[in-house]
Amino acid sequence: MPLIDRYKRSIEYLRISVTDRCNLRCIYCMPYDIRPVEYKSILTYEEIVRVVRIAARLGVRKIRLTGGEPLARKNIQFLIKEISNIKGIDEITLTTNGVLLERYAEELKEAGLSRVNVSLDSLSPEKYREITGGGSVETVLRGIEKAYQLGLKPIRLNVVIIRGLNDDEIEDFALLTRHRDYHVRFIEFMPGRGNNWTVDKCVSAKEIRGRLNRLGVLQPLPFRKRESARYYRLPDGKGVIGFISAVTDHFCEHCNRLRITSDGKIRPCLFSETEIDLKTPLRNKAPDEEIERLLRLAVQLKPEGHRIGIEPGHHINRPMSKIGG
Ligand code: SAM
Ligand code: SF4
Repeated sequence: MPLIDRYKRSIEYLRISVTDRCNLRCIYCMPYDIRPVEYKSILTYEEIVRVVRIAARLGVRKIRLTGGEPLARKNIQFLIKEISNIKGIDEITLTTNGVLLERYAEELKEAGLSRVNVSLDSLSPEKYREITGGGSVETVLRGIEKAYQLGLKPIRLNVVIIRGLNDDEIEDFALLTRHRDYHVRFIEFMPGRGNNWTVDKCVSAKEIRGRLNRLGVLQPLPFRKRESARYYRLPDGKGVIGFISAVTDHFCEHCNRLRITSDGKIRPCLFSETEIDLKTPLRNKAPDEEIERLLRLAVQLKPEGHRIGIEPGHHINRPMSKIGG
């Protein structure tokens, strides 16, 4: 029996956070007082592979590895290779800050990675450094170029826009799609623990779209149900521009995913307060049937939708780096 929730959504996508550690410290993601999960609490590659094998039998087709920074975990290529050998998995993708992409892109591709999402919130070296707590945008751009040349496509660039910080770069990011088939995706700034979110700092997808009309009328592309973004194209654009309106216009009715945190908790929804412990049964050598039962339970606990942006005071209860975005 495939994984279908109470609202008839079919769950085919697992986002797995392989570490909560990161080589950057983005101001909207990682609060300064954050304590990393103890190493011994982080799921091993063998444990992750076992969960994916069971999930694949239940109809999961797509795996995204995230973090923290997934490329900062040692030998992630091994995990990708193991997952790519699992029957039923059609696609393995990775969300990365791109710092180590130039170094690892080739090995990632060889291991079976389908494509990458790279988070990039400024094209200005100074501002990038400010947002990320010291990162080098030049390094990330070289990583993106390498991934592009290797055909890890389409390359998606995730841009979180924060008013007064990087909203002056909206047009520059959109223009990246003019000559290259990049997917530039604007993500609404979400409220998370310790990230000083306020409603006025969040620039809505609608506002960003409006601002881009200065570059020409955006052409809407057909909406694909499994996507969390709505896509458009500049009149003369090779690539596409996406909008992830997690705060102002929820796409919960098409949600097809479950998340697993680096310390082995299943999160039915990014915004859930509820988590289901997988790590303990995995370490107690629970049979596959028990792991399957817990995955099914998480699917049944998926809420119909979330309240972020609707009711004041709602925010994500763990820092994003601990969930994987
Ligand atoms: N380190 C990797 C990276 O930065 O791509 C993967 C983990 S990061 C938590 C995953 C995604 O979550 C990134 O695209 C990041 O921009 C996004 N993210 C983190 N905090 C966010 C927030 N408060 N609002 C919106 N997106 C956020
Ligand atoms: Fe690290 Fe990614 Fe969070 Fe930035 S967004 S601090 S790169 S986990």
